[in-house]
Amino acid sequence: MRRPVIAGNWKMYKTQAEARAFMAKLLPLVANSQHCEIVVAPPYTALAATAEAAKGSTITVAAQNAHWEKEGAFTGEISMPMLVEAGCQGVILGHSERRHLFHETNENIAKKVRAALDNNLRPIVCVGELLHERESNLTHAILEKQFEGAFAALTADDFSRILLAYEPVWAIGTGRTATPEIAADAHRYLRELAQKRFSTEKASALRILYGGSVKPDNIKGLMAQVEIDGALVGGASLDAQSFASIVNF
Ligand code: PEP
Repeated sequence: MRRPVIAGNWKMYKTQAEARAFMAKLLPLVANSQHCEIVVAPPYTALAATAEAAKGSTITVAAQNAHWEKEGAFTGEISMPMLVEAGCQGVILGHSERRHLFHETNENIAKKVRAALDNNLRPIVCVGELLHERESNLTHAILEKQFEGAFAALTADDFSRILLAYEPVWAIGTGRTATPEIAADAHRYLRELAQKRFSTEKASALRILYGGSVKPDNIKGLMAQVEIDGALVGGASLDAQSFASIVNF
């Protein structure tokens, strides 16, 4: 039985004060939500304030990106040990906005996955196809390339520490959710890749989150699919009430 994970990606939203106010609202709404893991991913400047507010609860904090080096002349970057110091337990890597707006490559994502694991941070690795790739029947080919690109150098034990998020780019922030069946088909394919690359046991333990316009009114249908082990939520995670409704699907 895979325990669901509901993760909120705040993107470039919320100051420290707003993060504290959000957590104060969210905590009582999910105080009895033992059925799933809850993760919030604030921007860098609000990580420590959010981690502080989450203390004593089951909510964990993840960052939205990080550099693979421990330190160095990398202006504007943040390292994995810095995230640990800020109170993070995880880090989102390879989000489509990083891949497409900031030109992140599979090669760099693989280095970040390695660095996260070496620093005891759980990577939440995002994969997903663009609309024209889906329309050209390239979805599986793209997923395979991104999967292999991020994970080829990992051992099976490393792999068991990862969360995977399937986020079709055409569904992110567009209000156009993948149907539960479309999402489940991609998840099944990703699990097959995990089985081929690692083992049946690791593949069946792998939790694959769906992301792309998840809202309180579509989470139930998505979670009814056995292949869907949770959600990575963008826009609808910014409001405590809406995020809590998704958590309590
Ligand atoms: C995301 O940012 O990972 C995401 C899925 O965004 P949204 O829920 O707004 O589509």
